[in-house]
Amino acid sequence: MNNDSMKIPQATAKRLPLYYRFIQNLHSSGKQRVSSAELSEAVKVDSATIRRDFSYFGALGKKGYGYNVSYLLSFFRKTLDQDEVTNVALIGVGNLGTAFLNYNFLKNNNTKIQVAFDVEESKVNTKIGDVPIYHMDDLEKTLADLHVPVAILTIPQTAAQTITDRLVAADIKGILNFTPARLNVPPEIRVHHIDLAIELQSLVYFLKNYPD
Ligand code: ATP
Repeated sequence: MNNDSMKIPQATAKRLPLYYRFIQNLHSSGKQRVSSAELSEAVKVDSATIRRDFSYFGALGKKGYGYNVSYLLSFFRKTLDQDEVTNVALIGVGNLGTAFLNYNFLKNNNTKIQVAFDVEESKVNTKIGDVPIYHMDDLEKTLADLHVPVAILTIPQTAAQTITDRLVAADIKGILNFTPARLNVPPEIRVHHIDLAIELQSLVYFLKNYPD
């Protein structure tokens, strides 16, 4: 992200990729403007929040006109660094890891899993999609050679902290953690935690307790 975007609150920053995806679709369908009500309906964020989010980056919608789609698109592209590919490493080529390698993320934005690591000999030196799988012994050297700032963790929980410590020492800046482990990292390292089991449990809890 560039320096201007540093002033955007974190909750707003987290919604930017969501807005970006929708604005891209609008732009490719030839639409030139969009109202906050239309955006709200499409991305399921209330329109007051959208107006506040957009005001942070100077996109001031006009009453009865809405927002200019090209302006929004160029803002998001610049802010989310869409002109630059960010290299990502995936650690742990099990069921979930394999699914991510097949999916990769280029379809959505310019992040690309360039390399994966595992300890299992039968997986090492193979490829999934076009992503090569290396042995964990080669982690530090490979990350340094490829300039990888982001890692996805799809290893067993028990291995998560040890591997995180190695990633931090190898100069990784951000970790997307799919293991249930809560990771200890220095303050300058950013960890986003996605626990699918917890998300599912909380969804079921809400269905039961807040049925309307
Ligand atoms: P699978 O069915 O392939 O075992 P899984 O997702 O059920 O997949 P997990 O036990 O969660 O299996 O392990 C995920 C992957 O992490 C496996 O491919 C495993 O070989 C790998 N793995 C386990 N320990 C480590 C480690 N210390 N470093 C790197 N990879 C590891």
